[in-house]
Amino acid sequence: MFLREWRITEILPCIVNPEWKRIKTEISDDIGEVLPYLNAIIRDAVYNPNGKSLTFRFKGMLVTLFPRAINLAQVPTLEEGESALNELRDLINNTWERRDEITPVYEKRTLRAKDILDLLPKTNCGECGLPNCFAFAMAMVRGQRKLSDCPPLHGQQYRENMEALRELLKTVGIE
Ligand code: SF4
Repeated sequence: MFLREWRITEILPCIVNPEWKRIKTEISDDIGEVLPYLNAIIRDAVYNPNGKSLTFRFKGMLVTLFPRAINLAQVPTLEEGESALNELRDLINNTWERRDEITPVYEKRTLRAKDILDLLPKTNCGECGLPNCFAFAMAMVRGQRKLSDCPPLHGQQYRENMEALRELLKTVGIE
């Protein structure tokens, strides 16, 4: 077995919905080597080869894998979070066992408007000076807008989205 166990180190309220949770864990084994294999098989995963992290949606939750930690956000209940952690451990172990059949992907992903749009407030409020969030995402891909140009994104309720967007931008070398 590649990853033996996880241990919850912190449970925090979710900023998007106070009834939900954020869960931080530490894990028993270094999973850094499996991240490029997971990057190859998880659709829409965002891999950051420099910081070694992989972010993706799993059962509606926002998951970030690090070599020595798994963080979950937007977790409806502790039970669902624990169940997701067990499934993620199985996914990591199965992927590692099948690694001979998988071509690992080590590169940064191309920045895609859809990935940005998924993390924007999607209110189409127009405060950025553009007609909607999709236009803003497209402008970001073209380098014509920055995260700071979307005022609602700086509100507390979007803090997790902002962190995920920063991680996403880091994968293409934008700090
Ligand atoms: S300011 Fe932000 S939330 Fe409003 S339309 Fe622009 S990108 Fe969307």
